[in-house]
Amino acid sequence: MQTKLGNFVIGQWVEGDGDGAILTSAVNGDPLATITSAGLDFGDILSHARTVGGANLRKYTFHERSEMLKALAKYLLEHKQELYSLSTQTGATRGDSWVDIEGGISTMFVFSSKGRREMPNDHVYLDGPPEPLSKNGTFVGQHIFTPKLGAAIHINAFNFPCWGMLEKLAPALLAGVPAIVKPASSTAYLTELMVRRIIASGILPDGALQLICGSVGDLFEHLDCQDTIAFTGSKSTAELLQQHPRVISKSVAFTAETDSLNASILGPDAVPGTPEFDLYIKEVTREMTSKAGQKCTAIRRIIVPSAITEAVVEALSKALGEVRVGNPASKDVDMGALASQSQRDEVRDRVRELSGEADIVYGGDDDFDLVDADVKKGAFFMPTLLHCERPLSSTSVHSVEAFGPVSTVLPYASLDEAIELSLLGGGSLVSSVMTNDNDVARELVLGTAAYHGRLIVINRHCAAESTGHGSPLAHLVHGGPGRAGGGEELGGVRGVLHYMQRSAIQGSPETLTAIGHRWIRGADQNELDVHPFRKTFEQLAIGDTLVTDSREVTLEDILHFADFTGDNFYAHTDEEAAAKNPFFDGRVAHGYLIVAFAAGLFVDPDFGPVLANYGIDDLRFAKPVNYGDTLKVRLACKQKTLRAGSGYGEVRWDCEVTNQDGDAVAQYDVLTLVATNEHWASVN
Ligand code: NAP
Repeated sequence: MQTKLGNFVIGQWVEGDGDGAILTSAVNGDPLATITSAGLDFGDILSHARTVGGANLRKYTFHERSEMLKALAKYLLEHKQELYSLSTQTGATRGDSWVDIEGGISTMFVFSSKGRREMPNDHVYLDGPPEPLSKNGTFVGQHIFTPKLGAAIHINAFNFPCWGMLEKLAPALLAGVPAIVKPASSTAYLTELMVRRIIASGILPDGALQLICGSVGDLFEHLDCQDTIAFTGSKSTAELLQQHPRVISKSVAFTAETDSLNASILGPDAVPGTPEFDLYIKEVTREMTSKAGQKCTAIRRIIVPSAITEAVVEALSKALGEVRVGNPASKDVDMGALASQSQRDEVRDRVRELSGEADIVYGGDDDFDLVDADVKKGAFFMPTLLHCERPLSSTSVHSVEAFGPVSTVLPYASLDEAIELSLLGGGSLVSSVMTNDNDVARELVLGTAAYHGRLIVINRHCAAESTGHGSPLAHLVHGGPGRAGGGEELGGVRGVLHYMQRSAIQGSPETLTAIGHRWIRGADQNELDVHPFRKTFEQLAIGDTLVTDSREVTLEDILHFADFTGDNFYAHTDEEAAAKNPFFDGRVAHGYLIVAFAAGLFVDPDFGPVLANYGIDDLRFAKPVNYGDTLKVRLACKQKTLRAGSGYGEVRWDCEVTNQDGDAVAQYDVLTLVATNEHWASVN
């Protein structure tokens, strides 16, 4: 009897009905577990996510949910060893598992950090600045994002059972949306183990995460406009699911990351003997063999100058010959097995298809030497290189994905031809260029970017620190047009917003300030009896305002500032030259002098709750200041962001400097750190 994988639904672990399908080890074919979700009530599962999970998550702010992700990431790191042990059964080497397990966990850390640094400690995310919509400023617009009220349905591919789940889960949870995860069956045992640890941690609120191991049954019949489907897998499954009548009739958001014939172009300058040539051979070899080539981002098409095709084939064949294939648990092994025997058979068929238009120049054998493994029992496949002599008139090399350690060399005669070949892939997740010629880099990037979600240019200067062709990063978008599915994931906060609804809100500045918790010009201002710098973080209210005294700017001030700082730009020091400038009548004050005088006007000098000034945002000088002009400042508390547990919060002030006519001469946000009540009491 094998273990039956659990489904975590409606707050408990449940076994599906019946025997279920048998899952086997990729290394030796031994049965590992059975999988079934038969008998589950998918309508109830969805309803639990919406009513319990969503409601629970939305109680928290972005920062609180970020803290949850961080705690979870730390917890999973503590349990990584058992995940590594089980991961071997998927055919993954230690290095492959590191990408899947720790790469996935690091995605959670990145989203946690982005959530705290780039999102407010609030429940609403403001998209851009307010839009003025009326002459007198009493009616304005503001785009906002709020979490969708449905569930995130995550359908994942078999190749990254941990990363695949976590890269989707982190942004959804940060958005405040509960997830229902459906891993690919063949490696679901590893996802199930990770979910068991996540649930056991007790960090997530009820309903935030559910797991379905096996079919999703009639789940799609219950979907609604507030649900989001994020799918990773083959193009054919994506098309099938995208055309589900319920997805169409309810306009269910659907994002797909599918397969992709990713290209890597070797620049004409990168001939044998250059560092770029050697780097290229290393990168292609690594991309073909890491995770046994089962990466949606792996290089499938090796586009090289025709004059050096032979040298590339020779160097790659040599490098592939040095790759040790076998039991992924062995330290002597560089490449493990494919995820299952059926996957191996599938790759074999695809190579057969490719070989109709390309010659196998390395590998392709069914029987080959393995380290500590039996080729008949495990799902092993020999690294295989093909060469297509006429790639512009070939179709299969640009359309058939052999999801294993397989790639084809395609020669090009000119940069235009290299671009044409790259585009023949019909849209990819990633493309790379190896060149030390930045003009070539620009031509290739501008010529191919519209067809690729990500482009990486590698040369001798960045190679050592490069993250590599095949690594999607949480900071950058992952996805691509056309064949790659047309979807987009990750990309920092962008990835979070996929689970939220953008709405345009219109109303008075006062109303929009109350909704967004960010003060908008034209909204009420509380002119205080006490200087706002005397108030703690909690005591300050959005809209609290200081209007300062005035100060005249003299010619001596300008000359003194020029002399003192060394900024002797003619517009401040040479009356005649300044007058020739189309923007000025004569000598004007330095912009930084205005900012410095403004600080002198609004700062309260005594020891107080304001701890530091950490910068200025969006500084604009609206009008020149001549000597003899008089400056005045209006400083309004614009936005407050508590840094929980740190003893302070960030306070953003809207600062407007006006002249004697009331015209704005400078506008900007002043950023300060202000002590909380608790911290302030502790130092007084
Ligand atoms: P697949 O057969 O399309 O399966 C992908 C997922 O869809 C699995 O979880 C699968 O579950 C599920 N699925 C299949 N039919 C379904 C249906 N009718 N209803 C609901 N779910 C269904 O793809 P795969 O063979 O597992 O994955 C390999 C492919 O994924 C490759 O082509 C690769 O390029 C692509 N991929 C893309 C990315 C990317 O980020 N773009 C990443 C990794 C892989 P079962 O396993 O239970 O059938």
